[in-house]
Amino acid sequence: MAEQIPRTFNRRSVLKSSLALVAGGLAGASARKAEAEPAIKNVNLNSSPSKLQITDMRYAVIVKPGPSPCVLIRIDTNQGVYGLGEVRDVANYQYAMVLKSRIVGENPLNVDALFEKIAQFGGISRQAGGVCAVEMALWDIAGKVYNCPVYQMLGGKWRDKIRIYADTTESDDPKEYARRAKERKAMGLTWMKMDLGIEMLKDQPGMVMAPSDMSKWEMRNQPHPFTAIEVTDKGIARMSEYVDAVRGAIGYDMPLSMDHLGHVGVKSAIRLCRAFEKYNLEWMEDLIPWYYTDLWKEITSSTTTPTITGEDIYEITDFEKLCQTHAVDKIHPDLATSGGILRTHKIGDMAFRYGVPMAMHFAGTPVSCMANVHCAAATRNFLALENHSLDVPFWQNLVNGIEKPIVNKGYITVPDTPGLGVTLNDEECKKHLKPGTGYFEPTPMWDEKQSFDDYIFS
Ligand SMILES: [Mg+2]
Repeated sequence: MAEQIPRTFNRRSVLKSSLALVAGGLAGASARKAEAEPAIKNVNLNSSPSKLQITDMRYAVIVKPGPSPCVLIRIDTNQGVYGLGEVRDVANYQYAMVLKSRIVGENPLNVDALFEKIAQFGGISRQAGGVCAVEMALWDIAGKVYNCPVYQMLGGKWRDKIRIYADTTESDDPKEYARRAKERKAMGLTWMKMDLGIEMLKDQPGMVMAPSDMSKWEMRNQPHPFTAIEVTDKGIARMSEYVDAVRGAIGYDMPLSMDHLGHVGVKSAIRLCRAFEKYNLEWMEDLIPWYYTDLWKEITSSTTTPTITGEDIYEITDFEKLCQTHAVDKIHPDLATSGGILRTHKIGDMAFRYGVPMAMHFAGTPVSCMANVHCAAATRNFLALENHSLDVPFWQNLVNGIEKPIVNKGYITVPDTPGLGVTLNDEECKKHLKPGTGYFEPTPMWDEKQSFDDYIFS
């Protein structure tokens, strides 16, 4: 990788860079090779935007507690400027690397056009991990070239800090549940989410009705309406004890969301939503797959408990269907699946028109986290951003360049540095590599394009 020059987003640093260039002391060979374009003001003179080209893409696989592994990618250019991106958590590096042969030689600043070119290789859930990682890295490059934070290129900020909501782990004991929730509140968080699923009731008689010979595949892979699983009155009462305990611990002033109910039938989902109404939940999440719009509408109109979905949806169309019909009360894209920074911002704007707020699902490293932070800063109807790593001390050490602690009293400050605003802490990242994998090793095996996919319609 060519040498990278630390920069900050202010006039003085731009001036300094220019002076250093004049003095001939800056950045070594790569900077000298690049021709400056003096007509464009405030452009980082280490790059020549119209002559910028992608030269390489490499990856590193990070393992961490919680959703993992997480694949970081680095896109290099002919002018020493590079961009960082991240594949959706628990998706393979191949999702990104198959795109290398499609983007090398292209100008990385044409973010939208390049995304259109590779969008065909994205799909629902983890399938979009690669195209979204590339999109993040392209914005990072664009920001570094134009000396501009990503949120500014999306139209500027609605807020200076981003509200975080914390996922909180399950326990069989309602008291332990309550204790963990209280601990989260003490960290300064202003929004909580608890996982609460029928899985926890499985060894308790009379709580969940299900065929006794159900396979793991049926439990996990059959969409909810086809599992024949229903929750009994006793089961609903037991689940209410957990919610009651958490509400008792954190009070009613703070938003409390709920996730991971399990694959129960639509009527059971409605009964649970109704039973939890008195606990004033902020939302119940992913009760059924997002594509059953009519069934979502049925659930949502049967209860005052708000509903939400979206972490596995790719691109705007299905989000718009849900918003237009008000089949859910809120949406919850994962930027590493929904189409990257710009597309997720547009999804937010679309939802705003229908009066639908947007929370954001996220479970990766600080690289993808910062992509979310810039998008959230620039999107008016944003609510809160998820974080799965509050109990992972090294999580925030994976990067440098931003305010630490990254999550401070429930918020992340939006950085004003160019691009995503982070550099990798190589030493720390290397400590958490997936065993047997390298750190941004050369990837010549991904150089050759072996399929005719430049035209996707005739
Ligand atoms: Mg979820």
